[in-house]
Amino acid sequence: AETQKQPTHVAILPSPGMGHLIPLVELAKRLVNQHNLSITFIVPTDGPPSKAQKSVLESLPTTISSTFLSPVDMSDLPGDTKIETIISLTVARSLPSLCQVLKSLVESSRLAALVVDLFGTDAFDVAREFNISPYIFFPSTAMALSLFFWLPKLDEMVPCEYRELQEPVKIPGCIPIHGKELLDPVQDRKNDAYKWLLHHTKRYRLAEGVMVNSFVDMEGGAIKALQEEEAGKPPVYPVGPLVNMGSSSEGKEADCLRWLDEQPHGSVLYVSFGSGGTLSYDQINELALGLEMSQQRFLWVVRSPNDSVANATFFSVQSQKDPCDFLPEGFLDRTKGRGLLVPSWAPQAQVLSHGSTGGFLTHCGWNSILESVVNGVPLIAWPLYAEQTMNAVMLTEDIKVALRPKANVQNGLIERHEISKVVRGLMEGKEGKKVRNRMKDLKDAADRVLSEEGSSTKAISGLALKWKNQICN
Ligand code: UDP
Repeated sequence: AETQKQPTHVAILPSPGMGHLIPLVELAKRLVNQHNLSITFIVPTDGPPSKAQKSVLESLPTTISSTFLSPVDMSDLPGDTKIETIISLTVARSLPSLCQVLKSLVESSRLAALVVDLFGTDAFDVAREFNISPYIFFPSTAMALSLFFWLPKLDEMVPCEYRELQEPVKIPGCIPIHGKELLDPVQDRKNDAYKWLLHHTKRYRLAEGVMVNSFVDMEGGAIKALQEEEAGKPPVYPVGPLVNMGSSSEGKEADCLRWLDEQPHGSVLYVSFGSGGTLSYDQINELALGLEMSQQRFLWVVRSPNDSVANATFFSVQSQKDPCDFLPEGFLDRTKGRGLLVPSWAPQAQVLSHGSTGGFLTHCGWNSILESVVNGVPLIAWPLYAEQTMNAVMLTEDIKVALRPKANVQNGLIERHEISKVVRGLMEGKEGKKVRNRMKDLKDAADRVLSEEGSSTKAISGLALKWKNQICN
């Protein structure tokens, strides 16, 4: 009878990256607050936890605990190893310690399920060993998920690099997209990152269910395709938008929020490239001068330039240099009062929900997009890495809630005049008004799916109930 009283337990294995951890934390909060489950985050790492990671995990209620697995050694990997390989290997090399933690959880709690995110499928074998149901939480688009399920077939059909295909690729349920716009790891089929991706996508079918952080009003076509029944394909549950709501303590201290308080309603463009995004030195220069030229108010999360990779801070989220060392001379003085710089990390949830914020220039990370959607803030799409170009295509050409500046084809840079034009267009122009209105509609739809009777709320309830009922160990 004692065990009857114990809450049903779910283990969550977030793969490295703040963009993976944050929506999983929101899922955990819902399972705990609305369904009385208890949760353990089991965190694989290749070093000490980052400040951002710690602050997110430490702010959680006591029914959500976290365990950091002993850091795995990655020193044998060559310097140019791609992010998808690093993430996958971090998980794969953590399996022995995951096994130990799961064993003790099985002994001490009513453990029903193990939830992994996009590159965590190697943990499925350990879950099966303990008779625990493996689930995936997919923290990106239904479009990317549709591609993931289809990729093993596409891989057999296409003999060349996808970027060499003449015809656009038709991902089931989605707007046609050119091969070169597909996510990074499919751009070089010989690279290990592609092999890892293919490995995971084949294993997606082993999941008992896949939650996707999206909703029908945003990605109706892709979701319909995903939900078409097919032998061996697990059910797909749209549970989004699950977004970072921030914590009130985080907000109170921030100078940038006090600055926002003093700006006119809807007048500020928030500029951020997520947790990992970095620009080249020349590109930062153009962006600074473009923002200045636009004459609009802006709040810019700046990081030191990096000329070789676009995701330089993915694992660390730290700016190394003083902005004065790399921004154009006189820029700070000339934009004083109108523009504010925040080094490295901003309380984004609070910034986007602030009434003074009227637009968001984003790297198109899916969490950032969803956070903008729930606040009805229209976008400027500036994709950098991962699946962000696919997201940008969907936002600008399919649902039309974003404007997208064009790069100069000769030097690859998005230049100051173009930036200025698009920023003004969003904040003051007719085209801005249109995307703003569509974004408002999308916000209303998001409110509906998250309401008590909404589809995403119900999908999560359904899963919680299933987990509560299936305990037999
Ligand atoms: N974030 C934040 N402050 C920052 C940058 C990012 O709070 O200065 C949060 C943001 O709100 C989002 C997440 O970090 O929840 C970034 O996820 P996203 O999918 O947008 O991009 P990624 O960092 O994974 O590329």
